Amino acid sequence: MVRVAVPDQGALEGLAKIVSKSPLPVIGDIHFDYRLALEAMKAGVAGIRINPGNIGGTRKIRQVIAVARDQGVCIRIGVNAGSLEKDLLPYPPQRQAEAMVTSALRHIGLFEQSNFKNLKISLKSSDVLQTVRAYRLLAGQVPYPFHLGITEAGSLISGTVKSALGLGLLLVQGLGDTLRVSLTAAPREEVRVAYQILRALGLRKRGIEIISCPTCGRCQINLMALVKKVELAVQGVAAPLKVAIMGCIVNGPGEAKEADIGIAGGKGYGLLFAGGRRLRKIPEQQLVPVLLEEIENLVQQKG
Ligand code: SF4
Repeated sequence: MVRVAVPDQGALEGLAKIVSKSPLPVIGDIHFDYRLALEAMKAGVAGIRINPGNIGGTRKIRQVIAVARDQGVCIRIGVNAGSLEKDLLPYPPQRQAEAMVTSALRHIGLFEQSNFKNLKISLKSSDVLQTVRAYRLLAGQVPYPFHLGITEAGSLISGTVKSALGLGLLLVQGLGDTLRVSLTAAPREEVRVAYQILRALGLRKRGIEIISCPTCGRCQINLMALVKKVELAVQGVAAPLKVAIMGCIVNGPGEAKEADIGIAGGKGYGLLFAGGRRLRKIPEQQLVPVLLEEIENLVQQKG
């Protein structure tokens, strides 16, 4: 699904166009103004994300609930550690999870009083362990699906590490129904990282998994460039294949044989493997096109 920010009236025009053309469910992200939530639902969003604490009081929330109920729209209650109610502040850093859960339960209570249960909950913080604790604490108390995320997780590398840890700890426990990786990077990187997390946990199988070694003194080909080129070229492939790209013929053949297709590098050449068998020797400059051709052939065969 795709979340679209709806910061003002101007955004609503674009939202209606996006909703009408999107093949994916669109979620409207609403802040501060309940009227934007009402209009977003009119534009046909599948869900809205609100922080009930900042959209203007109980009466307005009830209006949002009434329309959501009518239109079968799911509401995500987003609790963010950075914008908790004033009476929950300050809390000791190690009690952040409890404060987030208290806030979430208050908001949930408001919706339940109106007998509205089409909810999804998120508890976001930039602190990995407090986030994990918060979801675990809330999990025993409510039946609603969870949207997971480590918010403001940072740049591509630090955000990936934090997200993989936090989301991984929760997902292996069976917690979490949707997720978002938040990075200070292009949104497509967030999607790629999220997918890699799911794949590493065995929760998704689509796409090419590349297994490659870190290189060492035995490596005599430009493995990093090779992996980079292949990874880029196969981004759009949906077939679940394992491709091993290894630096040497000492430890490389084992992994290459285990994969659907593999390369083990030699001095200026690479040995090609497929289906557990060694096929042939390829000059280094032809490794990328040959590997891509072999992948394409296998995709066609499996197709
Ligand atoms: Fe080194 Fe070969 Fe292992 Fe790569 S596969 S790290 S080159 S020993």
